[in-house]
Amino acid sequence: MRGMDKKLKILTYGCQMNVADSERMAGLLKKIGYTLTDDAERADLILINTCCVRATAEDKVFGQIGKFKSLKREKPSLILGVAGCMAQKEGANLIKRAPHIDFVLGTGQSSEVARVVLSLERERKHFVDVSNVSGEISSEVFPLRGGHVSTFVPIMYGCNNFCTYCIVPYVRGRERSRQPEEIFAEVKQAVAEGFKEITLLGQNVNSYSGGMTFAELLSAVDKIAGVKRLRFMTSHPKDLSDELIAAIAGGENICEHIHLPVQYGSDKILQRMNRVYTVEKYLRLVEKIRVAIPNVSLTTDLIVGFPGETEEDFQETLKFLRAVKFDAAFTFIYSKRSGTPAATFASQIDDATKHRRLEELMKVQNEISLAKNLALENSAVEVLVEGASKTDDKIFMGRTRSNKLILFEHGSEQAGELVSVKINQAQTWLLKGKIIHSSDVA
Ligand code: SF4
Repeated sequence: MRGMDKKLKILTYGCQMNVADSERMAGLLKKIGYTLTDDAERADLILINTCCVRATAEDKVFGQIGKFKSLKREKPSLILGVAGCMAQKEGANLIKRAPHIDFVLGTGQSSEVARVVLSLERERKHFVDVSNVSGEISSEVFPLRGGHVSTFVPIMYGCNNFCTYCIVPYVRGRERSRQPEEIFAEVKQAVAEGFKEITLLGQNVNSYSGGMTFAELLSAVDKIAGVKRLRFMTSHPKDLSDELIAAIAGGENICEHIHLPVQYGSDKILQRMNRVYTVEKYLRLVEKIRVAIPNVSLTTDLIVGFPGETEEDFQETLKFLRAVKFDAAFTFIYSKRSGTPAATFASQIDDATKHRRLEELMKVQNEISLAKNLALENSAVEVLVEGASKTDDKIFMGRTRSNKLILFEHGSEQAGELVSVKINQAQTWLLKGKIIHSSDVA
């Protein structure tokens, strides 16, 4: 029988939602005596929370599972579990491929993790449950959060949009919104734990339906004492409402940053992606946002190499990028996901063309990002201090309200403080500056 000091190592792949799910599962496992460790060799339980949005993410997970085989041989009591999107998609196939995995838990079953682990501690046999992709996530659990300054609070799970390239609706089920009271309680708990910045999470927060609109929810969270900064992601452009734009414009601590994934810049491809808006509609939305929130920062996601993409479509996308001038764009090569409609589309694009287009796209966007950042030189911005930079403990890093990363010389500031920084050097992905004064009122 194991003692009470049981060690848990969690590896999380993929998006912010997976980070939030891992924190919830860690919260559940804490209740049955597990504390976190960074060292897999000391762990009694290793949980891999997986992503399957791109083939590369899946390859990494299989590589990681393979590495733990020898660890299991040396320490047979070690429990190895796989959760998340790839677990949901592959189910028992994972155990067939790697029999040293003890359990596989789908996205809708993550709240069962403690029960499953307890039963495996008593009796070791393979366990797989991916039966209910739209299962509820337990609201009684307070997550065991990583970090100290910023944290995520999921407001809904699943997606109803079925973009033709995307596996998410198949592995995370239909949309389920959490009740506002649950969300408020979790935000208050995070604030009590010392977190200053809250990001409300959902695959498409705009379709939140927990008895109030997303704009109402955002405004209500904005009023919770101790929330110094409030962010949200992700917003589908098809239903970002005027009410939400007004809520951001009139909010106190709601950051002026909207991540608005466009995915592509030509109507033909947008239609094939089932994104349900046109380039013109997206441009009108951007204009409306910029009029209402003049200092807004806009970021986006873009996919190149979608099946059927012609050189003409691609050039339209470059033209679109130059017209919108996003602050930053996360650019991806289309990854064929079996089970999605786009995987069966004719005219898949060859790898060389995909890579060439990605490079061209990044070059155009990098020039835009740099120009936007250069325009900020000599201005003062509010920065939430995150802590020492990864390479130099005399240099601290933080984020502007517009979500730009900024480095500055460290004085007496502490992580979690709001400070005013004058930008004296801009780069494509980074700003550098000097503290003017501390404006923190904690
Ligand atoms: S909105 Fe589209 S891209 Fe986003 S999770 Fe849903 S299906 Fe995937």
